[in-house]
Amino acid sequence: MQNNDFRQQAHRIIDFLADYAAQIEKYPVMSLVQPGDIKGMIPEQMPEQGEDFANIFADFNNIIMPGITHWQHPGFMALFPSNGSVPSLLAEFLTAGLGVNAMVWETSPAATELEERVMEWLRDACGLPAEFHGVIQDTASTSTMLAILCARERASGFTVRAKGCSGIMPFTCYCSEEAHYSFEKDARLAGFGDENIRKIPAGADYAMQPDILERAIREDLAANKKPCIIEATLGTTGALGFDPLEEIAALCARHNIWLHVDAAYAGSAFLLPEYRHWLRGIEQADSYVFNPHKWLFTHFDCSAFFVRDRDLLLRVFSSDPEYMKRNRQDVVQYKDWGIALGRRFRALKLWFVMRSFGLEGLQERLRTHIRLAERLYNRLHSKLYWEFLAPLSMNVLCFRLHPEHITEEATLDSINTKIITEVNAGGKYFVSGTRLKGKFVIRIVPAQTQVNEKHVDGIADLLEEIAAGHIK
Ligand SMILES: *Cc1c(COP(=O)(O)O)cnc(C)c1O
Repeated sequence: MQNNDFRQQAHRIIDFLADYAAQIEKYPVMSLVQPGDIKGMIPEQMPEQGEDFANIFADFNNIIMPGITHWQHPGFMALFPSNGSVPSLLAEFLTAGLGVNAMVWETSPAATELEERVMEWLRDACGLPAEFHGVIQDTASTSTMLAILCARERASGFTVRAKGCSGIMPFTCYCSEEAHYSFEKDARLAGFGDENIRKIPAGADYAMQPDILERAIREDLAANKKPCIIEATLGTTGALGFDPLEEIAALCARHNIWLHVDAAYAGSAFLLPEYRHWLRGIEQADSYVFNPHKWLFTHFDCSAFFVRDRDLLLRVFSSDPEYMKRNRQDVVQYKDWGIALGRRFRALKLWFVMRSFGLEGLQERLRTHIRLAERLYNRLHSKLYWEFLAPLSMNVLCFRLHPEHITEEATLDSINTKIITEVNAGGKYFVSGTRLKGKFVIRIVPAQTQVNEKHVDGIADLLEEIAAGHIK
């Protein structure tokens, strides 16, 4: 594409995106296409000859857009959000335009040094220990994998790196039964074996029970196993429960176990001092992860991973192929801070976001989201037929319709599944469900960047309208 063409097409795309943002509420939040609909419209073979951009863009509109679920729609209240913002989007334009691969310092010093600086900003703004060293990864799943690999090397005295896994005594690892599945998956991939992964029961508040954790550790020690890593979750994926970090940290210290803290979603809220009590004990953590790409207005992907012992991390992940041997030793070389060699220049969007909003702007938006969730909670909670299976935690609501005359759990499950289907089919909202202590619940997280009172009142009205059909 010639430069002139680029200018013209880029203007078209920016116009498209600006219109899209302005009219996003006209789209059904959740794509309603059927499996195979989209693939069926795409030819089986790639074109022999290059095509006009105008044709490609027309097909983007006709084929791709109907198959898009609109994550930036304020009615997107499902799962956890991946919210974005204009400054973040502008940075992504620039990142793509520069096309940089920030593998090492030499391949773009600014990418490395900006990453160092924004991770310091983020660490300090969230009240994390000053000894933490930060690196941006793609996802929390990857960040947790890094923590597990570091823990494995530390516990084995680096014999896994030198000799492989054979011969090491069985390592065990621990997380809450409410922890994100990525911990279990990562531990399995790191060679722990399913039989050495302990999922500790959570209490009524969806927090891991430290006395049961302690018992599990003692039993493993008695069975000649080696407790290696505990993951504490701050903000579980179901009901946003918070594990008791201080008590878990004390156990880690006593038994020399790696403490990894997963705050993938709720970590953004630690920009607010009023939520930092959950962080008590963080001084003793070995690693910590949270995702600015969930709730901090920074486009996917951007996962902030912090580790206390940088030298240990480097000892686990550094390698020096011949073509990298002449790199400087006196600078940060982020290729040695994780698995991949190639790295996107992700620091730029975080920088744009932090500068455009400022700390106060970010805090204000987070507090607004939490207030909106309280508004929705108060509205639904005042009706006896909405049963809350978990207290409101920050901005995560877990509840179900429970009409008085229905006692069968299976019936309640099916009513609430139907409610979700009905809400989502309406196109104005997208909500999801989960199971808490065996009971199926509707789960709502109003955390889109532009969500406001109109949207939380609207979902409440819609839920009431649907409920009326079930309780009469
Ligand atoms: C979302 C989430 C994850 C996984 O995040 P990815 O970045 O998608 O890998 C891990 N832990 C918790 C608590 C989460 O909420």
